[in-house]
Amino acid sequence: MTPSFMNTLQQITDQNLADIEQAKAAGRAAIGFYCLYSPTEIAVAAGAIPLPLCGTRNDPIAAAEEILPRNLCPLIKSSFGFAVTDTCPFFRFSDIIVGDTTCDGKKKMFELLSRYKTTHVLQLPQNQDPATALPFWRAELERFRRIIEDRTGVIIDDARLRAAIQLMNRERAARKALMDVNRLKPAPLPGSRLLEVLFKVGFLADKEKGIALMKQAALEATKGTLHADDPKGSGRKRILLTGVPVGLGSDKVVKIIEQSGADVVALENCSGYKQAFAVDEDKDPMDALAEQYLATPCSVMSPNTGRFDLLAEMIRGFSADGVVDLTWQACHTYNIEAFSVDAFIRETFGMPTLHLETDYAESDTEQLRVRIEAYLEML
Ligand code: SF4
Ligand code: SF4
Repeated sequence: MTPSFMNTLQQITDQNLADIEQAKAAGRAAIGFYCLYSPTEIAVAAGAIPLPLCGTRNDPIAAAEEILPRNLCPLIKSSFGFAVTDTCPFFRFSDIIVGDTTCDGKKKMFELLSRYKTTHVLQLPQNQDPATALPFWRAELERFRRIIEDRTGVIIDDARLRAAIQLMNRERAARKALMDVNRLKPAPLPGSRLLEVLFKVGFLADKEKGIALMKQAALEATKGTLHADDPKGSGRKRILLTGVPVGLGSDKVVKIIEQSGADVVALENCSGYKQAFAVDEDKDPMDALAEQYLATPCSVMSPNTGRFDLLAEMIRGFSADGVVDLTWQACHTYNIEAFSVDAFIRETFGMPTLHLETDYAESDTEQLRVRIEAYLEML
């Protein structure tokens, strides 16, 4: 990846905190989100800045464990730890935070989080039934729209919603185009670099800046310049990472796979391809948002058939040689679903998966390395 691109990305990232401060001083609200099920379009339609708040670092976890149980998912503990230690500027900037009743740990954590910040929790159905779950979810999003209107003082009419959907679709299209660069063989973008770009762009207050950056990254990658300092042989195994979300600070598995001589060509998780969707721009905007967001293929849904469709499409499209399925410790839904994911991929592609359960600490790095190296040798 060219140093000049990474410098630009870093400069824009550094400037972003000042941009948010300035926007807030000028009267714009900031709204913190914890889950892909929450439609950020509703915040954007109100002129607010949507900020992703899922914790990806290990350092705030010790503080969280003074209140939360230790045997809880590190993503939940990290998110909560940032709040209790007041060490996340994006949490501080948020005028209201938005959660969803996804897994048990997260929804109960939001009850405690509401002691620190105004919190709204969307009641998420546990299945995607169009006859029962969808109308319930549509009503829940309508309630969310009213809450954001009250908070921001902006009436979110259909015209505003349509404009927000168009903007967010353009952002997701740019994310998808960047991720799709790695359909090429050999993959031009190391997974760790792809993750870094996607992660940093996610915080930018100015969506147009993020879109332009991702387009530039994709263009440079396809020309080969991003890869010029990091040539890869075509014999490297191509790994698809599925499972829980990862970000900077919780990306140790991505790094170990790369250090072990393979390429992480695609991320089928909330940090990656689960965000590669487009909301229907021709339908009633609230109907379209409800349908699209409810269809998110996360393990908190039962059943979660969409994940298998997405995995099959991605294994073929990215020519994956292997699949690493990552579960955060104490995440029951991804942990249990790992069995079905492995069975599906064995039956459909004749390929075993590697299921890893870990947390954000570095203590098991060498154990993970041994398992990853053994898996790569087997492929
Ligand atoms: S993995 Fe599921 S619960 Fe977690 S952020 Fe993504 S959609 Fe939400
Ligand atoms: S990784 Fe699992 S336990 Fe952790 S927040 Fe997501 S669904 Fe919940």
